[in-house]
Amino acid sequence: MPRKVRMTKNGILCEVGDLRVCLDPKTADASSINFVSHAHSDHLPSKNGGTILASIETNEIANLRGFKMENHIELFEDFSLIDSGHILGAKGLLFDDIFYTGDICTRDRGFLQGAKVPKCKTLITECTFGLPEFIFPKMDVIQKQVNELISELYGKGIPVILMGYQLGKAQTITQLFGHWGPLYFHDSVKQMNTLHQKFGVDLKEGIGHSEAQKMGLLDKKPWIMVAPMMSGKNKFVQDMKSKYGAVTIGFSGWAQSTKFSFGRRTDYSIPMSDHCDFDELVNLVKESGAEQVYTIHGFVEEFAEHLKKKLGISAQPLIENSLDDFT
Ligand SMILES: [Zn+2]
Ligand SMILES: [Zn+2]
Repeated sequence: MPRKVRMTKNGILCEVGDLRVCLDPKTADASSINFVSHAHSDHLPSKNGGTILASIETNEIANLRGFKMENHIELFEDFSLIDSGHILGAKGLLFDDIFYTGDICTRDRGFLQGAKVPKCKTLITECTFGLPEFIFPKMDVIQKQVNELISELYGKGIPVILMGYQLGKAQTITQLFGHWGPLYFHDSVKQMNTLHQKFGVDLKEGIGHSEAQKMGLLDKKPWIMVAPMMSGKNKFVQDMKSKYGAVTIGFSGWAQSTKFSFGRRTDYSIPMSDHCDFDELVNLVKESGAEQVYTIHGFVEEFAEHLKKKLGISAQPLIENSLDDFT
């Protein structure tokens, strides 16, 4: 069957015979199957159209974030939605020998199991951390380091705010460090945690920050709070620092880099990510056995170059106008 994979203004389009498959399109396309890999806002379409293929979890989280999917389906013909281990409900899509990773992580983290990569001929992979400098520490090393840090701060009576993306990272942090108490949540994290609990994710309960503040609970130090990633200039962070002397610990893959300072906006930064690191990306490509790799998101040129030069795999960034026919 003739196939085409290309990048359009609306995102990735695969044409397999008469079938059009849009992968994480900006706007859901009326004449296509639109696959939405997960509910992070840069992957959600801004408008409905056609059929949207997504997991039940992604549909519900999208709803909570203000995007109501019309014509949602969770199964389509022989397409397989493969757990991508990125956040709750995140999937890759395997169809007609093509595997699209969406955002992917092959490392186990708390309740999230690392992705198992399927065999395919054509691989479309993200490479957010596709530079060799991005190698993340093992999870048990991170846990030990952070527990020691919290312990040290607690010893001095200092409250600690753990920060990570509201959807995904914040729930992993809650699970990994929720044994510290008293445990509070930024209100937005509490809302997202509740949805995770509904899907059976085991997360400790805690009071939201507005309520805790009203009840005067934050005056009793130390305490721990899980909050979304925010800059030190943010009013909430400044309040927590000036009123309670709180210290912030941020969790981000970018913390690993010497070049990207936005990974270090917090007092301490821990290189923990919901994406593959460089070595994991390379392993993912090897495991897939793909003959052709298209790179998207992040260091697309550098990672494709590495695959070609070091591994002899046919690879290229998927960019607009890079029309590629193959059968
Ligand atoms: Zn994502
Ligand atoms: Zn993404």
